[in-house]
Amino acid sequence: MVNVGVLGATGMVGQRFIEMLENHPEFELTTLAASSRSAGKPYSEAANWYLDSEMPESVRDIEVVETDPSSVGDVEILFSALPADIARKVEPRFAEKYIVASNASAMRMEPDVPLVIPEVNPEFLDLIELQQKNRGWDGFIVTNPNCSTIALTLTLKPIYDNYSIRRVYVSTMQAVSGAGYSGVPSMAILDNLVPFIGGEEEKMETETLHLLGELDEGVVRPAGFGVSASCHRVPVVDGHTEAVFIELEDEFELKDVREAMETFQGLPQKLGLYSAPEKPVVVMDEENRPQPRMDRDRDGGMAVTVGRLREDAAFENSLRYVLVGHNTIRGAAGASILNAELIKEIIL
Ligand code: NAP
Repeated sequence: MVNVGVLGATGMVGQRFIEMLENHPEFELTTLAASSRSAGKPYSEAANWYLDSEMPESVRDIEVVETDPSSVGDVEILFSALPADIARKVEPRFAEKYIVASNASAMRMEPDVPLVIPEVNPEFLDLIELQQKNRGWDGFIVTNPNCSTIALTLTLKPIYDNYSIRRVYVSTMQAVSGAGYSGVPSMAILDNLVPFIGGEEEKMETETLHLLGELDEGVVRPAGFGVSASCHRVPVVDGHTEAVFIELEDEFELKDVREAMETFQGLPQKLGLYSAPEKPVVVMDEENRPQPRMDRDRDGGMAVTVGRLREDAAFENSLRYVLVGHNTIRGAAGASILNAELIKEIIL
């Protein structure tokens, strides 16, 4: 077993980490860190538990520690669910000694930090060696993308592998949990939607191309098509929905695109990693699916559900579909845990 800890353990994503790490066959959760507001309290007192599942007995009495490398003790991997500004300051300090598997955006676009979805670009983990050399660290930082980018990119990958993409438009309907526990006031979102999520469109547009890019002698060359995103917050608790419009360079058969998505598998499936969904992308034919409440938990929340896959008659060589992905599982905690499982399998 590898001892692991969670930074930002009391937050929305931190709680998902705790839920997913309970009974994990390879990772033993021993350390929980948060802000000085929580440090020194037992976890059951520090956290305002919001998940449907019960708070695991095993964490209730763990004393929350300060987010400082001197406080975390005997761990090998730290999962980070810290706000980006805090992550930028502390994750490099942790990486001097520990492996940091981070959800935060702070380090994602650093040239020597792998931004990875294990089914899409596991080879980017080769950057770890360069990172350790550049920075003189014994540990390292690996990041996963933003929650809406992960779901989009998982569905684009089987298309990108088989066709030449000209451009992608995506319009999101994102759950409130994506903004953190105190992120969106109820008075702003009930009976309403908010057509702006700070920084989200830029993240979707750059991270998607980065993930589908190539690692060329230690440098990531982003994919060469256009992505245009419009992001919106809607009154759904968990599960991001995205309407995706794709223009290809050439003609295509819809059934071949469907087949490519349905049969898509990556390294985690080949290696049989514990948190890997059997099918990363599941295609449904019902005309009123996917829906967040019904489809976000598919395969433990780790599979993305696609529906309404159809040709787009308005433009040449174009198709469109709707997807649902669980933002705090596949889009956050589950993504980091799958990265760590891959690292354990191929690097440790
Ligand atoms: P959150 O609910 O607001 O939780 C923030 C966590 O960080 C809490 O544990 C908090 O501890 C801790 N924290 C705050 N200030 C701190 C400080 N100065 N020092 C140490 N710890 C501090 O946020 P979240 O939604 O879980 O998001 C966490 C990170 O994951 C963010 O970077 C976010 O962008 C990213 N992310 C979130 C999602 C999602 O769907 N929610 C998806 C992908 C990525 P206290 O309780 O002690 O204040």
